[in-house]
Amino acid sequence: MTVRQLRARRRRVAKRLGDPEATLRGTLISQGRRCGKPGCHCADGEAHGPYVYLSVGRSTGGARLLYIPASLADAVRRRVELTEATETALAEISAINLELLARRELE
Ligand SMILES: [Zn+2]
Repeated sequence: MTVRQLRARRRRVAKRLGDPEATLRGTLISQGRRCGKPGCHCADGEAHGPYVYLSVGRSTGGARLLYIPASLADAVRRRVELTEATETALAEISAINLELLARRELE
């Protein structure tokens, strides 16, 4: 790609960046639960749920699960997807800038 094409691509990718205030990092997972009550159908049958959780990485490693009520699931899903798309776009812009830097055309 020419320098001009790289810059045009960078501009297009930058337009995909979402609102930084909506940033929410994590992974949505759906999981059934067993309540532990003796005689409940979940003990040897189908678990309760499934319930939605946000898996959030800890700085110390590992992850914690945050329960997401059904009423918030869509709003959380939108933000998580937007955040992933933004991070992908930032990685692409950085790669373009590295290429421009290598050609001494960083601007
Ligand atoms: Zn149960």
